[in-house]
Amino acid sequence: MNQTATVAWTNWSGSVVARKAMVSRPRGLAELADVIRTAPGPIRIAGAGHSFTPLVETDGTILELERFQGLVSHDAIALQATVGAATRLGDLTKHLHAAGQGLANMGDIDKQSIGGALGTATHGSGVSLGAYHSQLRAMEIVDGRGDVRQLTIDNDRETIEATGVTLGAFGALTEVTLQNIASYRLRRRRWVVPIGDILASCDTFMSAHRSAEFYFIPFSGHALLITSDISTADVSPRPAEEDEEGLATLKQLRTWLGWLPPLRRALIGAALARLPEEDYVQDWLNVYTSDRRRKFNEMEYHLPYEEGPRALAEIITLTEKHFPEVYFPMEVRSVAPDEFWLSPFYRRKTCSIAIHHDAAEDPKAFMAAAEAIFRRYGGRPHWGKMHNLVAADFASIYPRWKDAMAVRRSFDPDNRFVSPYLARLLGVA
Ligand SMILES: Cc1cc2nc3c(=O)[nH]c(=O)nc-3n(C[C@H](O)[C@H](O)[C@H](O)COP(=O)(O)OP(=O)(O)OC[C@H]3O[C@@H](n4cnc5c(N)ncnc54)[C@H](O)[C@@H]3O)c2cc1C
Repeated sequence: MNQTATVAWTNWSGSVVARKAMVSRPRGLAELADVIRTAPGPIRIAGAGHSFTPLVETDGTILELERFQGLVSHDAIALQATVGAATRLGDLTKHLHAAGQGLANMGDIDKQSIGGALGTATHGSGVSLGAYHSQLRAMEIVDGRGDVRQLTIDNDRETIEATGVTLGAFGALTEVTLQNIASYRLRRRRWVVPIGDILASCDTFMSAHRSAEFYFIPFSGHALLITSDISTADVSPRPAEEDEEGLATLKQLRTWLGWLPPLRRALIGAALARLPEEDYVQDWLNVYTSDRRRKFNEMEYHLPYEEGPRALAEIITLTEKHFPEVYFPMEVRSVAPDEFWLSPFYRRKTCSIAIHHDAAEDPKAFMAAAEAIFRRYGGRPHWGKMHNLVAADFASIYPRWKDAMAVRRSFDPDNRFVSPYLARLLGVA
């Protein structure tokens, strides 16, 4: 028997709540297939609930696949590892490091499940580094009829490219095989520059490092630059994180000086000038990610790489003219192109710009205004972060949209995974 309970489900930021859903935690493959066949629909699959879009929301059944976690096997020669799809990234990194392997790149946190990270094309930064799904070599997925499908990149490349950014719309992933690299060490550096400098040299900066990104601090005129490059040096201590304290200060200054931008700018600028440069060496799994305790909502658009600086300049002007409530830094990253049909990086070198808004405040006006700019620059939204696009929009910005939807129908002919939100997203009547 699978375990079920009727409880409210909520995402990390609290922006999505599923009050009426039944939660099911199948204990194995046969039970999972049975739930998909028989449980009240629509069925949605939850990872760690770190998406800001209502991908998991349903009045039917939410599948929590916590039994499908952990390292299944690894290949020390091919540097591949097979893991349960619900494995949290933080656990995955430890399994891989112990096996002498490393993820080629990571995003900002390690709380997501690998299935969820694949589900929305989660990514880190690096002009030659792809998102997590670009590491996919094989997958086991239970489709909408409860049939178990085993796919490998050698035999089923097209199908994996069609379904790899899953959106939880093709079936429930139970195991995935990832192509990794040998475990490695990174030198991490962080320093502050005037925003004008980095806007003028964005490509040079991004291209000069294996992984580079920057955060623009609103109403400060400055950006924090962060780089990570392979190193063989001895490890050195990673400085204590002060992001949360920094955000608390930015919020205070916003509240006290929101309508006095010059004073706000002067005080933040002075604080940033005192920020010590960071420079340390650590094993890869201790470098990429941070704790994110202060809750926010987020929108991220993936733009043609060369449009990044101009789009960011417009977003900054918009924010500083019309949205004094904004205090969270804006994050700017690059991502390598790939061949996955529903990937925002499909055949496109990308500059990603993320904007954030306090989770206790209404983000709609800010995000709608920013979205108009992102769309004008040909942006594709992050699947897991706030946006207002529907199927017709995606059909115009994803060259293989129709093909991907045909594959989806073959995986889920009865629309078991189609909630009202998914229906709008995918154009299912
Ligand atoms: C604090 C914070 C920091 C973040 N940092 C980054 C970042 O640096 N880079 C970035 O790109 N994104 C980032 N994100 C977004 C986040 O990585 C994505 O939203 C990701 O999809 C969340 O993974 P999850 O395990 O929580 O999945 P969920 O949000 O629970 O689910 C996401 C999608 O995956 C599907 N899914 C989950 N598991 C499975 C499975 N086993 N089989 C099939 N489908 C499945 C779900 O149905 C859903 O459609 C961040 C989010 C937060 C809250």
